[in-house]
Amino acid sequence: MDTKRCFANRFDDYQGSLLAGQCEEAVAPLVTATIERILQELPPLGGGPEGRGAAAAASSCQWGLYGGVAGVAYMLYHVSQSPLFAGARERYLRSAKRLIDACARAEEWGEPDADTRAAFLLGGAGVYAVATLVYHALGRPDYVQPLGKFRALCAVCAPVSFLECGSDELFVGRAGYLCAALVLKQKLAQEMLLSYHEHLKPSDQELVWQSVDFLMEQEQNCNWPPELGEAIERENELVHWCHGAPAYLVSKKPQYLDTCIRCGELTWQKGLLKKGPGICHGVAGSAYVFLLLYRLTGNSKYIYRAQRFAEFLFTEEFKAGSRVLESIYSLYEGFSGTNMMTRWVL
Ligand SMILES: [Zn+2]
Repeated sequence: MDTKRCFANRFDDYQGSLLAGQCEEAVAPLVTATIERILQELPPLGGGPEGRGAAAAASSCQWGLYGGVAGVAYMLYHVSQSPLFAGARERYLRSAKRLIDACARAEEWGEPDADTRAAFLLGGAGVYAVATLVYHALGRPDYVQPLGKFRALCAVCAPVSFLECGSDELFVGRAGYLCAALVLKQKLAQEMLLSYHEHLKPSDQELVWQSVDFLMEQEQNCNWPPELGEAIERENELVHWCHGAPAYLVSKKPQYLDTCIRCGELTWQKGLLKKGPGICHGVAGSAYVFLLLYRLTGNSKYIYRAQRFAEFLFTEEFKAGSRVLESIYSLYEGFSGTNMMTRWVL
């Protein structure tokens, strides 16, 4: 059913075979074309003395991972890691370096902002994490420089209440910093940080699982309210990565897998979002639900569903009925996130 938040999902569900038309040959050119369009739409990055002024004047949000230039650099890095784009690998990585160098300049020349210096999605930690990945992928030994800057930010977010707005969340808090550290550990195969299992005593691990259980108890018919204790109105519910079921896909533990699968069913019904193509509250975020469910279950049905959602992004219905984007290049709201998701579908 079409609502003010989502398009009706009129696709047939999985019948035992994947979509033939969504082969690599058909979809890879769409990814390439989207990258060219994103690179053309980027604002001037600055450089030299006049760039210093421009960088200082810009807020960190314009440079950060969520909606800024660092998000585009990460998307280019991500696509460059796929064998399908091996021919463009060097070019994409060089573009990513140019972009992330501008972000790092903005970090260093801008006004030091205590709230975003150690932020993953909106500030410095995300910029230095991406710079490390890009430099490392280019085979540059000086990747240790941005890595050192990332490590140094640990001291900023170590105090228990280092932010007034809540120090443990993903966008600017400790959860984000740890998330970036985990990505670096995986990609660089370095022992930057151990996983919390290795760090925490069994009694503290139990606290973590009790927190997850508490969240599971807040479920209302396959979804979660944006605020604790709020009642969900069915016809107007949020099914977004940022607010709702798609964010709650947490674990392969058997007691949570049923919940994950039910979240996925709701996302199949209500995940063709009108807010745009991105990850945060858009169709790509919904498609990521299916990619994760495929990882958790191995069921090809979820690849099929992700293919259908990717296909929908290129329909006239989506183009005519979705909200106009503020910046097409944003990783979390625009087409950089869409490209990330499409690369996984391939
Ligand atoms: Zn959102």
